[in-house]
Amino acid sequence: MATRRTFLQDTAAAGAGILLAQAHTARAAEEPGFTDKLTDADGKYAAAPLPFAYDALEPVIDARTVELHYNFHHKPAVVAANKAEDGLAKARYSNDFALVKFYEKELAFQLSSHILHTIYWTSISGKGGEPKGELAKAIDRNFGSYAKFKAQLVAATIAVEASGWGVVGYHPATGKLMILICENHQKLTAWGIQPILILDVFEHAYYLKYQNRRNEYVNQLFSLINWDNVALRLQAALPVRRLT
Ligand code: MN
Repeated sequence: MATRRTFLQDTAAAGAGILLAQAHTARAAEEPGFTDKLTDADGKYAAAPLPFAYDALEPVIDARTVELHYNFHHKPAVVAANKAEDGLAKARYSNDFALVKFYEKELAFQLSSHILHTIYWTSISGKGGEPKGELAKAIDRNFGSYAKFKAQLVAATIAVEASGWGVVGYHPATGKLMILICENHQKLTAWGIQPILILDVFEHAYYLKYQNRRNEYVNQLFSLINWDNVALRLQAALPVRRLT
């Protein structure tokens, strides 16, 4: 009889195989330029050129707005995301993590800004109309109809508190298309990340034994980590990494 651990490994391996097969199919159908370009050849974050001229969205969005938006909102986020990573590299080098919260929050905020802006430019580079084919079917399946989908997306996006985004996403674990709203850019994730290792630091996870000593609990957790499972999750995530 398979142990629970073996079962989990087999199940995960089968899942990874399915993902790999899907990714190969998707990749074969990709057109050049499909993939979001978030980094340069050195791995530093970089803003890809806009997929249109500043005045291409007139009269819906005026040229000056696009120019300011791209150069003074998107691009500075890219610079700041690189700065945050530099700050974290210095912290690791000097073993001084006094500012780790600042840099981690900064990285989540600025990188998410970079990612969402990059997708936004492509989202608004078309001519409107209505979705077709598989996308249209998925929308019907998940929302009832395109009209209902649009009504929810518009209402949700208008309802964002303060600054943020309306988001349509595909959740690979459930196969669902979802509408989300996002405050700021993150709270506190980088959109599209595929989790491969999770550490629970809710007090319910450790308080009986460790009380207020979260530090001790987190360090102790490392004696429990299943690195084979983490590696498997990474293997499964790799084929989809280019889709964000
Ligand atoms: Mn913006």
